[in-house]
Amino acid sequence: MSKPVYTPDLMQRLSKDFRLSEFVSSQTAARRGIVNTPPEAVVDRLELLCAHVLQPVRDRFGPVTVSSGYRSPELNVAVGGSPSSQHMRGEAADIEAPGVTNYALALWISENLAFDQLILEHYTPGVFASGWVHVSYRLGRLRRDVRTIGPGVNISGLKA
Ligand SMILES: [Zn+2]
Repeated sequence: MSKPVYTPDLMQRLSKDFRLSEFVSSQTAARRGIVNTPPEAVVDRLELLCAHVLQPVRDRFGPVTVSSGYRSPELNVAVGGSPSSQHMRGEAADIEAPGVTNYALALWISENLAFDQLILEHYTPGVFASGWVHVSYRLGRLRRDVRTIGPGVNISGLKA
């Protein structure tokens, strides 16, 4: 006897303004035929990420674009993710909010929300839409670890 296979409903809401489909669609997965179906535990973690981080960001800045949410282990390898990437656990998302720079977005998160890790990635001052914000939430581990990757400003020393 095998357990019934868990089949996530991609249209299910994770919070008021976020649906699961936004966190599993991937151009790389589609192009390479990689299955990117999240297990139930991942969906539960994505709900926490939405409740504590992404929905508050949405409420403050308006629509949020998720460029990378859940990554199956195979997809994580395909996109060159860290072997311990929190994307594989449903704890992290890469986001942008079209109405605000990624610097301002990262700064606001660092000053207003609880999170595990926050990385301002490849933001270039003066280039409005440059870069993205990686943010993670993990129940029981909220380190407030703030980093910057790439050129531009360093938000590491800001209040955590
Ligand atoms: Zn990321």
